[in-house]
Amino acid sequence: MEYSINTFEKLIKTCTEENKQIYEVMQEKEAYDFEISIEEVRKKVSANINAMKEAIIHGLISNEMSFSRMCGDDCRKLSEKYSQQKALFGKTFEKITKYALATTEENLRMNKIVACPTAGSCGIVPAVIIALSEEFELNEEDEINALITAGTIGYVISSKVAMAGAVAGCQAECGVASAMSAGVAVQIMGGNIKQIINASALALKNLLGLTCDPVAGLVEIPCVKRNVFLAVHAITAAELALSNIESKIPPDEIVDAMVQTGQLMSPLLKETSQGGLANTKSGILINNKIKNMYKEKRE
Ligand code: SF4
Repeated sequence: MEYSINTFEKLIKTCTEENKQIYEVMQEKEAYDFEISIEEVRKKVSANINAMKEAIIHGLISNEMSFSRMCGDDCRKLSEKYSQQKALFGKTFEKITKYALATTEENLRMNKIVACPTAGSCGIVPAVIIALSEEFELNEEDEINALITAGTIGYVISSKVAMAGAVAGCQAECGVASAMSAGVAVQIMGGNIKQIINASALALKNLLGLTCDPVAGLVEIPCVKRNVFLAVHAITAAELALSNIESKIPPDEIVDAMVQTGQLMSPLLKETSQGGLANTKSGILINNKIKNMYKEKRE
């Protein structure tokens, strides 16, 4: 089926007219666009789900620090904390926070992760899908449906703005990942299509203006911990959406606002590491230290 889906309004309209779920529409679109079968589309998605699970498994047991020595042992610290004192918000929260850290730490170790939508924001979608899958006993088909819906939400947003901190700040990376995850969480909990999109809208709306100011130009500070926060943020948006609390600004207008906010954002805050956290006294000290480490390594 040939579908043109570049706005949430079109997505909702198509799903309603065809009486299909978001993942059904998107898997048909993918199959049509790439001239493959729906089974092949789902097989590719399944491979990504498996890669996400592998990253979580490796990340949960590894303590290996990044070259900069700034990050790599936070998942271990969090796991130790949970082994002594359970999470304030229960087992699902515990899993989401651990899985987000496990995945992003695998990224900084240069191990295999699934960019969703980017490597810097790779921990959010897997944390939400895999944690909810385990907690609510989803089967493989449900997981595939979830990831296709997540991809659809990212796809719609990407038709207006590139998924890159250099283009629109971190709202276009971790912000979009959180929006994708919010929609997925609603789908997993049985919400309808409008609630799924509304959850994404609520998540994105409350992250507008999120800057990209990585210390020393590395996808470590603030990226690693930010993935944990925004995975939890997605669940907040999902809970509101499942309660029929609607964003008064429609989803497509929120994406427009995100695009404009990205355009208005100073280049110093768009992945250049010249402003914000990167330009703090400590950020500059870390930058100088890492420069020396690279210099020593070369010599
Ligand atoms: S702060 Fe920048 S580099 Fe880090 S995850 Fe966000 S967009 Fe990516």
